[in-house]
Amino acid sequence: MEVQALAKLNLTLDVLGKRPDGYHDLRMVMQSITLSDTLELADNAGEGLRVESSLHFLPAGEKNLAGKAAVCFYQALGRDVRSLDIRLTKRIPVCAGMAGGSSDAAAVLRGLNELEGNPFTPTELARIGERVGSDVPYCVIGGTALAEGRGEILTPLPALPPCWVVACKPDFPVSTPELFGRIDSCRIRCRPDTEGMLAALESGNLGAVARRMYNVFEDALPDRQRTSMAEIKNVLIQCGALGANMSGSGPTAFGLFDEEEAARQAAQLLGQSYRETFLARTV
Ligand code: ATP
Repeated sequence: MEVQALAKLNLTLDVLGKRPDGYHDLRMVMQSITLSDTLELADNAGEGLRVESSLHFLPAGEKNLAGKAAVCFYQALGRDVRSLDIRLTKRIPVCAGMAGGSSDAAAVLRGLNELEGNPFTPTELARIGERVGSDVPYCVIGGTALAEGRGEILTPLPALPPCWVVACKPDFPVSTPELFGRIDSCRIRCRPDTEGMLAALESGNLGAVARRMYNVFEDALPDRQRTSMAEIKNVLIQCGALGANMSGSGPTAFGLFDEEEAARQAAQLLGQSYRETFLARTV
């Protein structure tokens, strides 16, 4: 069986505070896009669980989020993984804030559920996904959704009006724990207008959605990285994006476009400086 794992973007990301259990309470509007990994699930005649990826530096077996998802799925069925090969063709950049690993895990859950005759409802599948990672429940459901708590409390939202996306991942690495640390130690100066974003989605106004995109992690980036992020966003806007934002804990920046030609030109221009630049559509 072949399954697609879609990348996600954050239209908004707010960190509400640190919880007693050490996690943070988040409030995020998430959006799936057509940029995707492909997963092949196949019986391997009793060889147990094997995970193989087109990117050789990714972990194999249960350490790969796709493998971990298979283990959690069969645990929920009260069984071991007896005979499963997972072959991953990665296109979603790794450590980019686009939930590539979580989306692979969610695709495995959806695929295995179908292969096993749908023993779980989508809500049950999302709950199984929670054991793999906080973004997995959203990736099981996908589309446009509000994610709260650690990311596992989901409310489906009216779909974003279809549009073009240019996503660009600069080369510098970001450390998510470090960014949370910076957020904890300083006062957040500016937050997304999440209510305004929900109203904009309700009204189906793409321009209003694009204008309300905001991510509190961007302000917490070290100076040089924040400057690079601002430069990429600036190019996107100059090329005609209706709005631009950073996704997750970065470092991917993206812009929303209502015109294909403008999006293609932006992708071409940014692609000259940044290898990992992608043109996609919203889903
Ligand atoms: P998020 O947006 O959910 O924070 P991310 O885009 O920052 O995710 P991922 O690309 O999902 O990050 O993966 C981050 C880590 O997970 C990497 O250290 C990687 O080695 C590990 N990993 C395990 N399985 C996978 C997978 N199938 N695809 C990508 N990364 C994986």
